[in-house]
Amino acid sequence: NTEETEEWLQSYVDDWVAFYRKHTNDGEVASYIPVLQKADPDDLGIVIIGKNGINIHSGDDDIPFTMQSISKVLSFIVGCMERGVAYMLDRVDVEPAGEAFNSIIHLEMKQVKKPFNPLINAGAITVTSLLEGNTSDEKLKPMLQLLEVMLGYRPEINVEVYESERDSSMRNRAIGYYLLEVGFLESDLNITLETYFKQCSIEVTINDLARIGMILANDGEDPDTQEEIIPRQVARIAKALMLTCGMYDASGKFATYVGIPAKSGVSGGIIAAVPPRVRDEDLPFLEGCGIGVYGPSLDDKGNSIAGIRLLRHIAKQWDLSIF
Ligand code: GLU
Repeated sequence: NTEETEEWLQSYVDDWVAFYRKHTNDGEVASYIPVLQKADPDDLGIVIIGKNGINIHSGDDDIPFTMQSISKVLSFIVGCMERGVAYMLDRVDVEPAGEAFNSIIHLEMKQVKKPFNPLINAGAITVTSLLEGNTSDEKLKPMLQLLEVMLGYRPEINVEVYESERDSSMRNRAIGYYLLEVGFLESDLNITLETYFKQCSIEVTINDLARIGMILANDGEDPDTQEEIIPRQVARIAKALMLTCGMYDASGKFATYVGIPAKSGVSGGIIAAVPPRVRDEDLPFLEGCGIGVYGPSLDDKGNSIAGIRLLRHIAKQWDLSIF
């Protein structure tokens, strides 16, 4: 019965969170945005949300953290909803870059007519420039509104993180000027960057990420109300991008060993969307569930070190891979 299985899943997850918490020592908290360094490297938490109120949560599950790169999925979705998919994909490609998230190498290649994908910084900054609105507040509003529809409250921007990133953003400014020079940006550069830094600083919890993950897993629909929150086609493209480009330049390994569309951010969050076709008949409520993980100690690619190991473990155990 459901309750028993949920209890069993809960204690299983508790055990493995305790186990993988020891792995946080193998990584390091991000430091290139100074304020992020304040995070506790030992933190590790996971929330799994499925239909019919399934909610498994374990470890440090109530710590607020900023979305960072996870917001790139959100801005891409909002861009598609505002401008249409064709408009967006004319201006940003959907190919994995195989380079660090803030790489500028590809931009200089003559044959490159647009940034590689919306989940690396060059693509994400371009996407933000395509959003409607003339000020950063106008551009941010639809993102915050969409979050409010999904989460039932409107998240806030962490001003301290925003200012820290804004004041230490040499690389992103360099990318921005390059994008401006080659004509990829469609809004003022300063407003675009201000919006981008603010979207990265939207504060959430893993409960929020799990809920968004569940909606993505169900192709944009809330499985409990059947309400379409994100158009199906847009949700699917977002998941394809997450699978191919979501885990920085470790996306291939993540697809191989975990096999779930996911996106990570330098603050240590990971959002994952488990497709509604889990093979294990004993675990039907994992079908179409969303997972949020937080663990600010990062590996050398910038992904939560213990978070990835935990996801890899449960994906294998519960057969969650889409492949
Ligand atoms: N705000 C960060 C940056 O652009 C996001 C990076 C990330 O989470 O990967 O540098």
